[in-house]
Amino acid sequence: MRVLIVEDDPDIASGLAVALKQEGCAVDLAPHLSQAWSALSVEPFDAVLLDLGLPDGDGLALLRRVRQQTTRHAHNAHSSTYPHPNTPILIMTARDAVPDRISGLDTGADDYLVKPFDVQELMARLRAALRRAAGRASPLIEYGALSVDPATHSVTLQGQPVALGAREFSLLLTLLHAKGQVLDRSRLEAALYGFNESLDSNAIEVHIHHLRRKLGPDWIRTIRGVGYVLNPDKA
Ligand code: CA
Repeated sequence: MRVLIVEDDPDIASGLAVALKQEGCAVDLAPHLSQAWSALSVEPFDAVLLDLGLPDGDGLALLRRVRQQTTRHAHNAHSSTYPHPNTPILIMTARDAVPDRISGLDTGADDYLVKPFDVQELMARLRAALRRAAGRASPLIEYGALSVDPATHSVTLQGQPVALGAREFSLLLTLLHAKGQVLDRSRLEAALYGFNESLDSNAIEVHIHHLRRKLGPDWIRTIRGVGYVLNPDKA
């Protein structure tokens, strides 16, 4: 899962980044609204943590702008332009006043957290927001004999536990969320790695290789010259 943290307080931002990385997320930081919009326009983020008081404006302006992408997407169903209007956005606010929370939710925030907040609570709220965005009520993701629990990072295959590394788990989740869409290498790299993380050119191939070794060779299909997709016959 790739998360954009929009926060101008360096201590809060770096603390959150460390905690999210420990949970296996790829994380990018944007201390200004302008940087946040630039990042969201070019990269596929799964979720955004949004501070409200930012040096160049109010976080609600960014929230409004993302939600307004709806019209553009409606006109072009195959548009791959970012950000997707339904990107889960959680507001982080020191403003404990009820009117601020109401305006945040009414502007389209999925949830809000009042600072200071517990990182485990943040993770649980993130997972719930992602579940709702994917239209799922159950916390478990089932795909044929495969069962994946994003909360505990546990995977079972025919009821037997499968131990996956953090990036392997993220890769599997990304393929599951794609719902049959073939994802190319750059899209998978963007889902698994932040902007400033260095990675080998064959990193995705290596993760795919490990996943196939652990799940079985026929779970992930290679579409030559295009990318990867979960085998629909397994669903
Ligand atoms: Ca701030």
